[in-house]
Amino acid sequence: MTNREVELLAVGGGPANLALAVAIEELGVDGLAENSLVIERGHTVEWQRGLLLPWTKSQVAFAKDLVTLRNPRSKFTFLNYLHTVGRLDDFINMGSFTPYRSEISGYLSWVAESLRKVKFELDRECTSIAPVRDSDGTLTGWLTKLADGSTISSRYLTVGAGRDPYVPPVLAGLPADRLIHSTQYRYRMAEVAKDRPHRVAVVGAAQSAAEMFRALQTDLPNSDVNWVMRSIGLRAYDTNKFTNELYYPSFIDKVFDARPEGREQILREMHLTNYSGVETDLLQDLYTGMYLDKLGGVDRRRLVTMTDITGAREEGDEVVLELTDRRSDEVTELRLDYVFLGTGFVREMPAMVRDLSAAIGLDQISVTRQYRLELNEPSDAACYLQGVNEATHGIADSLLSVLGNRAGVIAGDLLARRAGQTNGVHRAGTEEFAAMPISADGALHS
Ligand SMILES: Cc1cc2nc3c(=O)[nH]c(=O)nc-3n(C[C@H](O)[C@H](O)[C@H](O)COP(=O)(O)OP(=O)(O)OC[C@H]3O[C@@H](n4cnc5c(N)ncnc54)[C@H](O)[C@@H]3O)c2cc1C
Repeated sequence: MTNREVELLAVGGGPANLALAVAIEELGVDGLAENSLVIERGHTVEWQRGLLLPWTKSQVAFAKDLVTLRNPRSKFTFLNYLHTVGRLDDFINMGSFTPYRSEISGYLSWVAESLRKVKFELDRECTSIAPVRDSDGTLTGWLTKLADGSTISSRYLTVGAGRDPYVPPVLAGLPADRLIHSTQYRYRMAEVAKDRPHRVAVVGAAQSAAEMFRALQTDLPNSDVNWVMRSIGLRAYDTNKFTNELYYPSFIDKVFDARPEGREQILREMHLTNYSGVETDLLQDLYTGMYLDKLGGVDRRRLVTMTDITGAREEGDEVVLELTDRRSDEVTELRLDYVFLGTGFVREMPAMVRDLSAAIGLDQISVTRQYRLELNEPSDAACYLQGVNEATHGIADSLLSVLGNRAGVIAGDLLARRAGQTNGVHRAGTEEFAAMPISADGALHS
């Protein structure tokens, strides 16, 4: 099987690594962009492909694209994408700051196609990453294995492969063909007979559960849908403009520098800005739909609130959920054909990163302010983690809001380490960077 060598390998062709590819390409330093490769396991570049439904919107302003907050003069802005595909007039006339999810998806695909130096390859799934050591035991780089059996060696690595879907342990034993996580919704629905009167449950009380509940109304129009949640009901995201300031890239330093108790308070108080809530327009839409159901005497969809799923089993050709009412402790059973999981993502680091850190021999996974994995040993190699550092870098870490600046920060760190090597200076473990055309907050000076 073949092995290729690149200087920087980026695993995952989502917004995070695309933003980094843009930053590296724009820096134009000797050979780095030409020797960088982004690999994506999908056949296409799509944003949140599992819930890429026609009516879903981004919850973040269009200007928080891959580049504008770092370099508003870039050719990779969302506005330049709209201009290039002839949609700028329509977008402006629509008068909304938040594009449809499909527009962001189209933008990401256009960015991937518009890269001129950094290589971007589809259908390349990473199956494992291992540290590479020289004969002295010094960590010198990474060996990434792909699903086709080939390998890629690199000195620098960035992992931007998203987070692992969360399946509640009580449901984990159910057959996979009965469980549909929100990350699979769009393509798994192709397997489900649309017109049959299925009995289904949606689990979770936040945005992805709400989107599936709404989509099921038209995707399975004859089905009976129970929406099971622990909470007393649905809540709107906290989107007021004061808390939204905490999504500025400049807030990352305040989170990172805070003492643990301070960080914990910030994350706790910001929770409802991104989790456990539903977007206000969607709530209104859902309420209207259920109101009209009642008005028309249709009893097909219901909210089952304050309820724990305390057991789950397969019985014959159905799934049986044991539901415990949190008010009365009463236990009932719900017999179903499918369970839709709007249960979000695993909070811990993704399995790929945990396996890598175990292979390096790390006791814990932590990153520097520049998103570089702390190796606890001298090394010229570096691995950056994107989108999984909420605990240290704040709640915006998994969102588009900070991507452009984060890409600048990582590119700056990478260049500094590279310059250290070129000059024969070993910089591992230090936060001293050579003067770079990127400022500390990730903005490009041009
Ligand atoms: C339904 C949904 C809606 C969202 N809406 C918003 C929003 O409106 N605004 C916002 O700011 N954020 C939103 N988010 C958060 C979202 O995480 C970010 O917008 C953004 O997608 C994060 O980018 P990323 O590159 O870190 O991860 P991802 O977007 O998850 O991209 C990771 C990429 O890596 C690829 N990949 C994964 N594993 C491998 C592998 N082993 N080998 C190769 N490739 C791999 C995946 O196919 C994917 O393309 C939403 C999230 C979800 C789930």
